[in-house]
Formats: sequence, C-alpha cells, structure tokens
Amino acid sequence: MVLMTYTQLDIAPTIAHILDISIPHHDGKEIWEAIRYTEDKNIKQILLVIIDGIGVTLYNKLGGTINYVKKLSQDGLFFECESLPPRITTPNIGTILTGYTPEHHLLYKVADVFYTPIRSVLEIASENGIKSGIVIETMGAKSMSNRVDVAIGVENTRGIVDYDKRIINLALKAFKLENVMLMAIHLRVIDNCLHHYAESWEDVIYSATTIDGNIKRLVDGLSKSTLLFITSDHPVHVPKWAYIDRDSINVPLIIYHKHGYADGTKKSDRGVTNKV
Ligand SMILES: [Zn+2]
Repeated sequence: MVLMTYTQLDIAPTIAHILDISIPHHDGKEIWEAIRYTEDKNIKQILLVIIDGIGVTLYNKLGGTINYVKKLSQDGLFFECESLPPRITTPNIGTILTGYTPEHHLLYKVADVFYTPIRSVLEIASENGIKSGIVIETMGAKSMSNRVDVAIGVENTRGIVDYDKRIINLALKAFKLENVMLMAIHLRVIDNCLHHYAESWEDVIYSATTIDGNIKRLVDGLSKSTLLFITSDHPVHVPKWAYIDRDSINVPLIIYHKHGYADGTKKSDRGVTNKV
C-alpha cells in the first residue's frame, strides 16, 4: 500500500503522539495509519533510523539489493514521504526530528544545534521522563549531549562501512544497557559513497547491500518490542549521481513493529504505549 499524503514534518508529531507527549505548534500532522498500527502492540521502545540520501526512485531501483528492508515495508507500513527543501543533511534531519519547517527550526549547520531554543522530539521525550538517545557522528552527538539522556558520537576513522556498523552496534548497546526508550540513528554509507568514492552503479549497490545487512542485524538484535521508523533525509543530491534519484522528491518511510523476544509472556515492565 502506498500513500502519498505525508511529509518529513509528520514523523516527529507521530512519534510524539505514540509517546503521549506533544510538540508545541508543530508544522506537521500525525500519521494516523501509524498510530492505528501501534494500537494493539505493547511497544517498549521506538527507533528512528535515518538513512542518508535515498529517495523513492533510488529505493525502487535498488530492487532486491535491499530485500530485507523491503520485506519490513511489506510486513509493516510504507509511505512515500515528501522531503522538504533544502534537501541537505543537517536541516532535513532537523525537520525530521523537530516537526518544524527549516524556516522555523533554523538548524542549517550542526553548530546551530548547540544553542537553539528549538527542541526535538528526543528532548521533549527526555523532559517527560522518557529516556531518549541518539547515535550519530561525533559533532552531532556533542551538540545533542545536554539535550538527550544518551548521546553517542561515532568518528569516521575506519571508513564509512565500518562507521555504519558501529552506529548499529552502539544503538543496540544503548537499548540493552541504558534502557533508552526513544532513539534516533543516522546511517551514512550511501550518501558518503556517492560524495566520495562511487565510480559506478556497482558501488552504489555495494553501499546499499551494507545498509540492508546492517538493518537486518539491527532488527534481529532488538530484544524488546520495538516500533521502527526507517526513512531518509533527502533523495540523492550529489550532482554527478542525481539522475539515479531525480524522478521524485519523496523519500521512503517504513514503519515496522518488531516483536520482543519476551512477547507472549507476562512482563511487568512499562511500555511506551501504556505509560499512563
Ligand atoms: Zn544527507
């Protein structure tokens, strides 16, 4: 099922609604299909995965290369979600995390995040007693370190494939060891590959293969009942490669519920959907 009525502004308000918190005066609207999807599920944690630089055209062209991600979309919900200008990483992640347009959040550079009065859904969750975290590149994590409960920075020192792998490892650790209930992570291999080393379509395929493997490892490693939002900040924006993703400004949004290992047994720990 493909629905075309949502934008990146709608992700944060939807997460907020599921957590029973609110973002004041947000520009987006709740994705009611997602909220309904959660109603019969005892969700313990929410994970927002932002895959850098993949629009719906590239998503479709990748075909079976990202078989696992596509299986999640078939088993869960799939939306084509309109990306907002300027379609650059920091402002677009700002839009996804805050539910405000760039004109309202004004987060154009990582440095803007240090002092802004604008709060993301992660900060609002934390202020409401819901432990939140982010696993992102080092400077981004520093900018968020006094705003969320757990901010983990990853340095790209051993190549971008290794970087994404460590993001996944640390996200799983943060869920297990820190009991984070809302987390955002940023996977960079596709955009980084296109910016820096892609010479052929095969290189794009290779980077997408690592995304698919990492998402599978991530989902397999989630031990508690988890609601995943998997999306992207913008379609391909590297001029040399923009042609592979130029038919649409939409990005994929996959919403998928992963059952916890203990589902079906009586558990006393509190879920985010029954927190009151
Ligand atoms: Zn980006």
